[in-house]
Amino acid sequence: MSCDAPDLLPLDEALRRLWEALPGPALPEVRAERDDPATDRAAMDGVALRAAEGRTPRRLLGTLFAGDDPAAFRVIAGCAVRIMTGAALPPGADAIVPVEDLDTEGDSVRPRVEPKPGDHVRPRGDQARAGDLLLPAGTPINAARVALLAQEGLGLPAQPRIKVGVASTGDELVPDPAPHQIRDSNGPMLAALARGLGADVTLRPSLPDDPAALAAALRQTGDLRILLTSGGVSMGEHDHLPGVLKDLGATILFHRIRLKPGKPMLAARLGDLLVLGLPGNPVSAYLNALLFLGHALARLEGRAAPDLWRRGRLTASVKNKGDRPLLHPCRLVDGHLEPLPGKGSADLVTLAKADACAWIDQGGLEAGAKTRWLSLV
Ligand code: AMP
Ligand code: MG
Repeated sequence: MSCDAPDLLPLDEALRRLWEALPGPALPEVRAERDDPATDRAAMDGVALRAAEGRTPRRLLGTLFAGDDPAAFRVIAGCAVRIMTGAALPPGADAIVPVEDLDTEGDSVRPRVEPKPGDHVRPRGDQARAGDLLLPAGTPINAARVALLAQEGLGLPAQPRIKVGVASTGDELVPDPAPHQIRDSNGPMLAALARGLGADVTLRPSLPDDPAALAAALRQTGDLRILLTSGGVSMGEHDHLPGVLKDLGATILFHRIRLKPGKPMLAARLGDLLVLGLPGNPVSAYLNALLFLGHALARLEGRAAPDLWRRGRLTASVKNKGDRPLLHPCRLVDGHLEPLPGKGSADLVTLAKADACAWIDQGGLEAGAKTRWLSLV
């Protein structure tokens, strides 16, 4: 076991630190503006009638659609009103008989079932009473809660797409590489990932391994909320990003985590900008972006922390002799995890074939073992 393991931050702790370092817009307290529903309403298409008159035929007075004023009718003995789902119950009626339970002849209907008071009626105040607390302040935003704000006539939260910049670093990155050089594959990969997570993404030109150039790029981030960089965060002589961030006065949230691949992962705040300094190796960059960017976007958008993990069984054993938990690329076969013969954090070819990455604790896991996994599809 390597002696640096105790210095490394566990993944879940790193995610928690990131979460707490970012502002999270959450909802204000939501109270019911009025009873919900505000009046007795039809829950089915049918006729509104008086239940006490049983299955005797009724004369139809007209039709009420959702949004119609029910005062247009009064349901008296021997009468009924056609009514559509969502329409307010007319005065005098106390039940709905659905279309499928009616015999109709001309302008008269006869229930085939014995109606009971309240049948298929959503009574006033069934869901909430005016003034009821519907959501406490600070509840994370989701689509159903946005709908509730709309229903109660409250201001809707601003939901701008978060602006994310992507910049690779490395002198080796060129468009037309000689054998000692490579193309920038992380930049397009991270931009695609961030777009898939709903961000407003700008792919910037890659940066050289030069502290002055890195510092200049970090000072010119405009209205970006998040900058995803790749490379330059480990222990090499050209890994300048941590030092440059410190010189600029950034707050380092964490640097180096207990995860393979991804040990050099760095997160920092520079003013309002979050810098996610991803390792340069493609598998590390991808998996750490998936974990940390997903969290950061949820926080900045006021949503709950996403649970990215699913659970499944391995079809074959995976060794892990290292000092960190391992994320191992797998194919999904009938919902099970089939480990791929991956060659580590630089192996983009295997990553591109994988559907999932399985969490392998230190010591490894046997065939058939259940573990958590991340979806890559
Ligand atoms: P670094 O983290 O900068 O030491 O880079 C680790 C490894 O990832 C090196 O082999 C780099 O050449 C490679 N790498 C760094 N950036 C990229 C990139 N944008 N696209 C593909 N590979 C990269
Ligand atoms: Mg580099």
